[in-house]
Amino acid sequence: MTLTPGSHVLVTGGAGYVGSVCATVLCEQGYRVTVIDDLSTGNRAAVPSEATFVEGDVLDAAPSVLADDCAAVFHFAAKSLVGESVETPAKYWHGNVVTTLQLLDLMRAAGVDNLVFSSTAACYGEPETVPITEEMPTRPTNPYGATKLSIDAIITSYAAAYGLGATSLRYFNVAGAYGEVGENRAVETHLIPLVLQVAMGFREKIFIFGDDFPTADGTCIRDYIHVRDLADAHLLAATSNEPGTHRIFNLGSGDGFSVRQVIDTCREVTGHPIPAEVAPRRAGDPATLIASSARAVADLGWRPQRSDLHTIVQDAWSFTAGLGDRAHAARR
Ligand code: UDP
Repeated sequence: MTLTPGSHVLVTGGAGYVGSVCATVLCEQGYRVTVIDDLSTGNRAAVPSEATFVEGDVLDAAPSVLADDCAAVFHFAAKSLVGESVETPAKYWHGNVVTTLQLLDLMRAAGVDNLVFSSTAACYGEPETVPITEEMPTRPTNPYGATKLSIDAIITSYAAAYGLGATSLRYFNVAGAYGEVGENRAVETHLIPLVLQVAMGFREKIFIFGDDFPTADGTCIRDYIHVRDLADAHLLAATSNEPGTHRIFNLGSGDGFSVRQVIDTCREVTGHPIPAEVAPRRAGDPATLIASSARAVADLGWRPQRSDLHTIVQDAWSFTAGLGDRAHAARR
């Protein structure tokens, strides 16, 4: 089925951070969006008001959504905490691999052949060189990355045998916000939102996990990509998917920033001194992760517009400061 504005699309996990920004952009572009989310980690408030929202298990809810003239599926629903995946791998193999396999079977049964799959740089593990291209070895260092990589093998074979048209997007460090939608998790582990919580006065300081890595200032280097730019890539992927083809793209800015550079940018943007203290390394952190997105630029025509670090932090800060205002307003 051709995908054009007006088409019905399913967004699983559309109450989560990246999923809700994509759902918002799809609504803005005129698509008819149904979000399925069990709200285990997502926020109901992040689902755009124009979307139909179904609260519940993806596999329970998907058949009727797919049967309703559904042209494409954007599959975000997943377990995504690295540490938790090490402690409870069963939750990840079932929640990610088994659920996606069953969703693919439901799509086949309903004749829906267009998929965009939310994947991760964790598929590559510790790289030998950067920037990381899609041809480089995939050696995930935790079950989370292994589940996402395994799903790609399933998708590839379903594309070849059953005519599925699919794209897997391997995100590097997603950050920033889009309007009222940003990072707002019950348990936060990511650098930028945590640093901004210090600027908000919710935390006393930020801990820098290791300053003895082989990088210029000793702290880890990551490639930060704006969530709004990611949303564009999802749309470009869905509208160019071809039956029988599975494409894989890395999505990053191609620039790396150290933990100290991120904290300095947050100081500039917020005007807050943001106390920082060096702490031991976090298990499993590679020193440097930088994407090559050359393939996405060439094949999808993807043009990131907002992925310079200052804009990312500025947008994240506007969102975080707004959250504080909204919480304050709710208390009055
Ligand atoms: N980091 C840190 N302090 C924190 C959170 C993260 O120093 O409180 C570091 C982390 O070790 C990594 C970088 O910031 O080098 C980005 O971490 P994040 O969890 O945001 O993303 P990841 O790269 O692990 O996906």
